Amino acid sequence: MSQLVAIRGPARGIPKEGPPNLRDLDRDGLAAWLGAHLEGAPRHRAGQLFRWLHGRRVSDFSAMSDVPAADRARLAARASLRRLDVGAVLHARDGTRKLRLVTADGQSIESVLIPNDERGYTQCVSSQVGCALTCRFCATASLGFQRNLATWEIVDQVYQAQDLLARDGGEYAPRITNIVFMGMGEPLHNYNQVRRAIELLTDPDGAGLAARRITISSSGLVPAIERFAGDPLAKEVGLAISLNATTDAVRDEVMPINTRWNIAALLAAVRSVPPHRRRYVTFEYVLLAGVNDSDDDVRRLAALVGDIRCQINLIPFNPHPHAPYGRPSAARVRRFLDLCRAAGLRAYVRTPRGDDIGAACGQLALSGGQPSGHVSSDMSSAP
Ligand code: SAH
Repeated sequence: MSQLVAIRGPARGIPKEGPPNLRDLDRDGLAAWLGAHLEGAPRHRAGQLFRWLHGRRVSDFSAMSDVPAADRARLAARASLRRLDVGAVLHARDGTRKLRLVTADGQSIESVLIPNDERGYTQCVSSQVGCALTCRFCATASLGFQRNLATWEIVDQVYQAQDLLARDGGEYAPRITNIVFMGMGEPLHNYNQVRRAIELLTDPDGAGLAARRITISSSGLVPAIERFAGDPLAKEVGLAISLNATTDAVRDEVMPINTRWNIAALLAAVRSVPPHRRRYVTFEYVLLAGVNDSDDDVRRLAALVGDIRCQINLIPFNPHPHAPYGRPSAARVRRFLDLCRAAGLRAYVRTPRGDDIGAACGQLALSGGQPSGHVSSDMSSAP
């Protein structure tokens, strides 16, 4: 069962060369670091720095105009403000954009900006380089697992996107209103960094995002879902579960993690998450032609989740070269949706966004964009 090895926690660590990146620290961590490395600095220095790092997103200590020059020099000698490098920005016909970002150790990750109904953007953020899971329908799985992303690498995906939107739109730039941890990787495999990233992104002095507009999506790591259930974070942050099958036999096949924690164990963990006034648990369900899209699947799905306050997101399979599956016909998708609703489920079909640039669900594998998407590999068009 080699797959069991793959679903254990990731083994490779985050590289720790060079001076610490201050964007990796939460408020307390930053204050403690300053206490140890910036002797004699007044207490309010930590708050000032926090605003420069997370509110203004500066890349250089010299920009911190209200910090005395001597302190800026000491900081520059001891700490880093390194950002991710922008490898490429791909533009899809439907307005979706994919950012390919490069880490200090030369790894590429992807982050997708999807226009939403609120005239803002929902950003789909990556939590790892590659993924340790081996879901058969997902392109990211073909990359294997490389490593967890550091906190600063997670928040910088959002900051890079904010910078991009600001350059494009100036004063009237659209805002990022929602964050979904549905990019590359399994966010619950990287719990601590994802958690800290959410703290930073929701800080009013930082990006100021609303926690209830952030969703973590998991393939079903039961112990981590149980941890989430007891985490104060779960009161606000939404949980999405990639269910994708209604029998263990099929789920074992399409998501080998199911051989470790089966559907019953997964749903028990989901039920332990405190129900919250505003939030529904989301079940994502990738529709694979002839595999999990039958009328019987709807019947079983309703029986499985009928008692959970939930929403079902049906995602017609997005094809890519690494998966042996096909997308059901539009009529089949429609019937599946109608039957779900008739069975009393709150179900929606997620139309693929950005599929012409390989930015749709399950297509993030560092390819795409070349045939039809417009690629701008630099941001020099910006003023
Ligand atoms: N690892 C997490 C986060 C990734 S979310 C998770 O599994 O939830 C990515 C979502 O896209 C998941 O719901 C997954 O089921 C879905 N997905 C993966 N590959 C897909 C594909 N080829 N077509 C459509 N959806 C896909």
